[in-house]
Amino acid sequence: MTIAVYPGSFDPITYGHLDIIERAAAVFDRVIVAVCLNPGKQPLFTMEERVEMIARESARLPNVDVNCFKGLLTEFVKREDARIIVRGLRAISDFESEFQMALMNRKLDPEIETVVLVAQPKYSYLSSSIVKEIASLGGDIGGLVSDQVARHLQERFALHGLRDE
Ligand code: ADP
Repeated sequence: MTIAVYPGSFDPITYGHLDIIERAAAVFDRVIVAVCLNPGKQPLFTMEERVEMIARESARLPNVDVNCFKGLLTEFVKREDARIIVRGLRAISDFESEFQMALMNRKLDPEIETVVLVAQPKYSYLSSSIVKEIASLGGDIGGLVSDQVARHLQERFALHGLRDE
């Protein structure tokens, strides 16, 4: 059984992430979407909120689970009995950091392989950050995230009152 881990911030999950999850689920026996707690980043949504949103979006995919982790990704991957890390590549701008991360993870654990799935052109400009920026300014994020994620974003920004700043 081939188990793959798809790690990321998912703050929040977009249709670009979901596309990678679906395609990974078609290739691997089991996919664990792993929300990482990155102490360097101040997320908009808590770890629990991000996990819940991903779980809802991927509920129809029977071989996808959602989890979260702190610390080294390679250790989490080992603990889950996985050997594959899945990442998405949108543009050349993603390449450098993905390349560096893949090489570093290989140095940390040579038994773990990174598999990169190339984004669909229609999602290649899509990131959680740009979605947050548009939502914070009251722009239309339809077609970029699901309705439930859009609602969460609207609620969060209404709460913060960011539109009026
Ligand atoms: P991180 O902070 O680890 O980059 P993200 O949630 O931003 O977390 O992204 C997780 C992974 O998903 C990364 O490999 C990223 O390149 C990929 N990804 C993000 N958005 C898209 C998209 N629109 N299409 C394909 N892959 C994507």
